[in-house]
Amino acid sequence: MSSSEFDLIDRYFSGLNSSDKTVICGIGDDAAVLDISAEHFLLTSVDTLISDVHFMADTDPADIAYKSLAVNISDIAAMGGTARWATLALTMPEAGHDWLQAFAKGFSEIAERYKVSLVGGDTTQGPLAVTIQIMGTVSRGQSIRRNKAQAGDLIYVSGSLGSAGLAYQATLDKSLRQYVSESCTQRLHRPEPRVELGKQLNHFAHAAIDISDGLVSDLGHLLKASELGAEVELDKIPFCPELMELDKQQRWSIALAAGDDYELCFTLTQASEAEMQRQLEELDYPVTCIGKITDSSGIVWLDEKGEKVELQLEGYQHF
Ligand code: ADP
Ligand code: MG
Repeated sequence: MSSSEFDLIDRYFSGLNSSDKTVICGIGDDAAVLDISAEHFLLTSVDTLISDVHFMADTDPADIAYKSLAVNISDIAAMGGTARWATLALTMPEAGHDWLQAFAKGFSEIAERYKVSLVGGDTTQGPLAVTIQIMGTVSRGQSIRRNKAQAGDLIYVSGSLGSAGLAYQATLDKSLRQYVSESCTQRLHRPEPRVELGKQLNHFAHAAIDISDGLVSDLGHLLKASELGAEVELDKIPFCPELMELDKQQRWSIALAAGDDYELCFTLTQASEAEMQRQLEELDYPVTCIGKITDSSGIVWLDEKGEKVELQLEGYQHF
């Protein structure tokens, strides 16, 4: 989310919550955390994908549906929870049978994979837009928040960064097309939310966020919420292999700012690191330490010699 989007929300919406004691976490995290049962917290979040903004109008409708649900499940994963229910508000210019059938198929593929039930929605005519509200649960007291990082924590990211960003940038810049692999295109259209990882992190992480707008933005949000800073070593970042053929500036700009990764960025103490790695062995999904939390503010980027690098990067801007 851009700071101007933050400014808008702060200015117009942040004050609209009551002092309801069931709201454990309201506006400002990947999902709201609500205290509704003796065993679980309810997690909820909503995201909209708009034609020609978040996807090209001619994208396969099955992919549009898949991604729309995936990005919502990713917000639940970032809270350490399990996604369980969704509602779907679908606005479309016309009700074409083939389009809807393909959309429903893509939706059911990901809904079945992550055991999410579609429990309601709204269907209207207008410019193509998909809004999904996701609801999930996490054991009482266990949600992972953005604002709980601590100075000295290690910063980790899951998987690799930049594949989806490269596939997207290549739609704007023809010279990049030669580098785009099938896996980049797949990650752009069908991101996989890191739900199992998020659940494991419940036991270790102080703070977590999903990387939707690029590491530079999303780590920035985590730091702002935690009122701390970070040092990140650029050569430790797990760039996707396709980006290694590009020059450093281009690689950094795509991997850190293009967005659409849907990996998790999380922090934990050094003392928990070995235990986390043992626990994650079974999951068999890579996580990489890229730096540490400091008690300053903002991100300091370091090169392989430990010298500061000035990066003029901004993640995806909503406005
Ligand atoms: P994410 O990228 O994780 O989906 P966003 O960047 O969309 O999150 O939003 C950041 C935070 O601001 C979230 O907690 C979200 O619920 C909240 N938010 C965004 N828009 C509004 C709005 N219009 N009213 C209230 N809260 C909002
Ligand atoms: Mg998020």
